[in-house]
Amino acid sequence: MLRRAREDFAMRRPLIGGNWKMNTTLSDASVLATAVKNGVAELEGVEVVLFPPFVWLYPVFEIIEKGPSFLTLGAQNMHFLDEGAYTGEISPLMLKNMCQYVILGHSERRTYFNEKNELINDKVKSALHHGLSPVICLGEYKKEDKVEAKNDVFVQLKAVLKDIPKDLIKKAVLVYEPVWAIGTGKPASGVYAASMVLQMRQTLAKMYNLETASQIRILYGGSVTADNILEFTSQREIDGALVGGTSLKAKEFISICRQVAQATK
Ligand code: PEP
Repeated sequence: MLRRAREDFAMRRPLIGGNWKMNTTLSDASVLATAVKNGVAELEGVEVVLFPPFVWLYPVFEIIEKGPSFLTLGAQNMHFLDEGAYTGEISPLMLKNMCQYVILGHSERRTYFNEKNELINDKVKSALHHGLSPVICLGEYKKEDKVEAKNDVFVQLKAVLKDIPKDLIKKAVLVYEPVWAIGTGKPASGVYAASMVLQMRQTLAKMYNLETASQIRILYGGSVTADNILEFTSQREIDGALVGGTSLKAKEFISICRQVAQATK
């Protein structure tokens, strides 16, 4: 069985992402980014990534660029092409000098914008080609049916990573996000999330090899708060969290980052 040892922290540094989704005005975004920058300034052992809406990427970039180097920026989505007649879309070329990460395959993109595994696979390839680290979300829709859950997650995993070579996949971050736990206030249990993450890592080991699989960070996402974060990150398989709603509350989000940093000591 694959188990996370303390020394793995060096290889798989815990990551806390704040996905602001379609929230914040320019002034909200500036206040929130400034508060997070100041609140995490002294931390060690954790990486913090903010995912503001596209239009606030540059203002947030200006706020955090002089901040701690472990506080970086990500986009919530992107097109897979470099340029062209695609009204309303954002290309990897527009992101790459500002962002290190890009969320791909979020269940809200799948549900409301009909994004399928094949398209997500194209986006993952494009992100990696441009030096962006894709934060790839995978999760089952229903809570009750464990067999269906496994099918959803592992079918998605294999499809979105199709034809991605071993040397590139290490830059990706995976997120186990059961859809039933997103924005519902009803998170998965830490033990259940860890068992799914372990199986995801075992699948990666089969697709690539054990060494590669043990280097890829896999996060949990779904109703994470300051009160439950350690239930997830104390599981040795889970390398951090993608936080939605709670990332809009500066104090609570900073507390999440602090608790995770503290736990790596
Ligand atoms: C998300 O959207 O990725 C997410 C995990 O949201 P929430 O934390 O609000 O459940």
